[in-house]
Amino acid sequence: MQKLAPYSANSEYSRGRQYTEDSPSYRSEYQRDRDRIVHSVAFRRLEYKTQVFVNHEGDLFRTRLTHSIEVAQIARSIARELDLNEDLTEAISLAHDLGHTPFGHSGQDTLNACMKGYGGFEHNLQSLRVVDVLEQRYAEFQGINLTFETREGILKHCSKKNAAELGDVGQRFLRSRQPGLEAQLANLADSIAYNNHDVDDGLRGGLITVEQLREIRLFAIQCETVSKIYPQLDTRRMINETVRRMINYLVVDLIETSRARLLDSGVSSIDEVRNYPEPILMHSDAVAKESLELKRFLQRNLYEHYRVLRMSKKAGRVINKMFQAFMEDYRILPTQYHELSAELPDNSESMRARIVADYIAGMTDRFAINEYRRLFEPGELT
Ligand code: MG
Repeated sequence: MQKLAPYSANSEYSRGRQYTEDSPSYRSEYQRDRDRIVHSVAFRRLEYKTQVFVNHEGDLFRTRLTHSIEVAQIARSIARELDLNEDLTEAISLAHDLGHTPFGHSGQDTLNACMKGYGGFEHNLQSLRVVDVLEQRYAEFQGINLTFETREGILKHCSKKNAAELGDVGQRFLRSRQPGLEAQLANLADSIAYNNHDVDDGLRGGLITVEQLREIRLFAIQCETVSKIYPQLDTRRMINETVRRMINYLVVDLIETSRARLLDSGVSSIDEVRNYPEPILMHSDAVAKESLELKRFLQRNLYEHYRVLRMSKKAGRVINKMFQAFMEDYRILPTQYHELSAELPDNSESMRARIVADYIAGMTDRFAINEYRRLFEPGELT
């Protein structure tokens, strides 16, 4: 049994599931959540969804699946060190990107623009929708009926307008409260994972260079150390050594800063964590600054690199055209969606739009490309 700090989430005191179920026999409630996430269709689809590079661009780049596994690895190590609940941390980490559209952020932005007037589209909210509604696996209920704490962690951001419609899990956005520590941790581990693997993928893809990165403090310090100890090292291994040390540096800083802040805060339960005026887990000011510098660098030089932008613009056009086509005539949706929409009253345009958005958001990159071809290229089989 893992030792748990008093301020961690304890599955015996969980706020429970939307639909009451018997407790699992040999697992904790959060282990059951984690297992349900791993067995979901949405989780398997993460393998073919873009992180930064579109899935077919190369086999060595991160996908949303490997990204989620890296987040879970980083978050669990820290959870164990701080005596937070590892199972809950892992469940939130593995589920945090389930609602992502194909083609990364450009996919979400385009779908959000298409859904303007129909309630918008936001990937955090969609992740919750996936586990609450869209997964169809159980006889007794829709969704996979996760515990409150896992759902709280999945819903990282939410507008007040949307939060008002979400019941208890939306409350903290209306009352400006914090989520539990495991949710705070999964969020921070997400940044540690993507900042570092995007450096690695960006270098591998030839979109950014080691020379450029030497201007960035977080990279420069570790890179200098590596070059000093191993002056003969080839470039690939030098990059790997540097990135591995960057992750370690960030993880150690997060553990040490958070441990001190936990002590200072005097919190002794998850509800005191939720009512605390600010998140308790965080990096030191100096390291937060260095991380921000790296984030800005990646934004300018990687996410806005012309080759990435071309792909995102193309992806945006693919999603936009599919959305318009499905809205023009619902009958070209696959049968199960067609049936869903046939049950709706004629005037429920926004509910129909939501069905279309769910269908498109669930697509993998390659499915979206193939579906686009089937819809628009005369020579393709339908
Ligand atoms: Mg993520």
